[in-house]
Amino acid sequence: MKTLHHYINGRKVAGTSGRFGDVFNPATGELSARVPLASAAETATAVEAAAAAFPAWRDTPPLQRARVMFRFKELLEHRLDELAELVAAEHGKVLSDARGSVIRGLEVVEFACGVPHLLKGSFTENVGREVDSHSLRQPIGVCAGITPFNFPAMVPMWMFPLAIACGDSFILKVSEKVPSTALRLAELLSEAGLPDGIFNVVNGDREAVDTLLTHPLVAAVSFVGSTPVAEHIHRTASEHGKRVQALGGAKNHMVVMPDADLEQAADALMGAAYGSAGERCMAISVAVAVGDQVADELIRRLQPRVANLRVGPASDPAAEMGPLVTREHLQKVSSYVDLGVAEGAQLVVDGRALRVDGYEQGFFLGGCLFDRVTSEMRIYREEIFGPVLVLVRTPDFESALKLVNDHEYGNGTAIFTRDGDTARSFASRVQVGMVGINVPIPVPMAYHSFGGWKRSLFGDIHMHGTEGVNFFTRLKTITTRWPTGIRAGADFHMPVMK
Ligand code: NAD
Repeated sequence: MKTLHHYINGRKVAGTSGRFGDVFNPATGELSARVPLASAAETATAVEAAAAAFPAWRDTPPLQRARVMFRFKELLEHRLDELAELVAAEHGKVLSDARGSVIRGLEVVEFACGVPHLLKGSFTENVGREVDSHSLRQPIGVCAGITPFNFPAMVPMWMFPLAIACGDSFILKVSEKVPSTALRLAELLSEAGLPDGIFNVVNGDREAVDTLLTHPLVAAVSFVGSTPVAEHIHRTASEHGKRVQALGGAKNHMVVMPDADLEQAADALMGAAYGSAGERCMAISVAVAVGDQVADELIRRLQPRVANLRVGPASDPAAEMGPLVTREHLQKVSSYVDLGVAEGAQLVVDGRALRVDGYEQGFFLGGCLFDRVTSEMRIYREEIFGPVLVLVRTPDFESALKLVNDHEYGNGTAIFTRDGDTARSFASRVQVGMVGINVPIPVPMAYHSFGGWKRSLFGDIHMHGTEGVNFFTRLKTITTRWPTGIRAGADFHMPVMK
């Protein structure tokens, strides 16, 4: 069994805290590595390295920073399969899905390659007579990223490529359940020519996180994970004067209207609910059927498909869905299925008895499907984060919209309809950050920005795209007048345009 390390100041650094976390292969259930859990002092070492490296990187011309990103992009392209295998080995998602997730991260690197253009700023000649103004964005310093288990490559890459391209230095505290991919990304950044100390990986748990949230040299914190932790991150880092964006949990609804193509809607629900075993913050976990006929038709189509999902290890090219990330998470998701039955929902497909031949110790759960779920039930209200789709029946569009808007989470949502008026009304009135019209998982591309509303995001600024550039930089506006434009005498009044 491997013992992993941290990556600080361009080097692998062994953990010295004496505390370790267990990393599993979710398909076999075997322990695959021990990951060191950093002490406050070890975490502070990384912060100090990042702070020391920052001034020279801040002063490096944006085009040179972009060139590092271009080289990193090429290395990622060459290492795509290796990275996908690392993701799959610790997370469990099937290889095609793991590969796709690395590519979605790579797209943020491609966006970051355009940083000279993104940082160009603006200039106005003659804001007053012979007075000019220009605005520019400058890096903010040491930034920290804290990321969840479900996207070991993509979610970190929502953050650090843009931060680094903007001239910041970065410390990544990746999920202790899936640490290996980030360590490999750190090596590739060094190979791409990134100076030591600009990108650091600290493995750890709450002790490392709380050090990052309170350390005076950390300027900004990006977080993605569950809502209770997102709230803690936002509160603590804000109290310590840091800029914070903290993305939390989700319960994403897909509304199916009576005029929708139900074959397409059922296909969409299969991929969106069961892809990555439902461990996606943009997974559809609630199907909202408008009318009993739509509900009956959807259940008729979904039932055999959910029951026959191909569940297996990432190495099986035919597998549509892999295991859950840990035994503990498997137990949590299974107990939600027990709860749904106890709450009186109708369990149409029960995946709890699934066993995968040759992988009996793996953390597998078959797809589960509930019908006749109501908004009071906990299986409706709470995030399950597994392959469990619940179907809620509503009589009309207005009650479907109200259902979505009354939910505490507002990450993603979708509507399936052929009617433009209904689609437009939904997109305009729904209280959710990312909306799909006949698109089940509307994850914005790298040059748009990703983020939810309500209790799915604490802070104001979304990830990547121009919002990301704004998060990782500060605006400065400079007003200039040269001596020939200065009139004699002191002015005591507020300068105004005459
Ligand atoms: P998590 O909140 O348990 O952990 C996220 C990170 O926070 C990890 O690095 C973890 O080590 C750290 N952490 C955990 N508990 C902590 C504590 N008490 N104090 C400080 N740090 C702590 O989330 P997870 O289980 O790894 O990931 C799944 C969750 O992430 C789901 O809720 C999912 O919806 C959410 N998620 C959200 C988005 C989004 O964009 N909104 C994207 C992906 C995942």
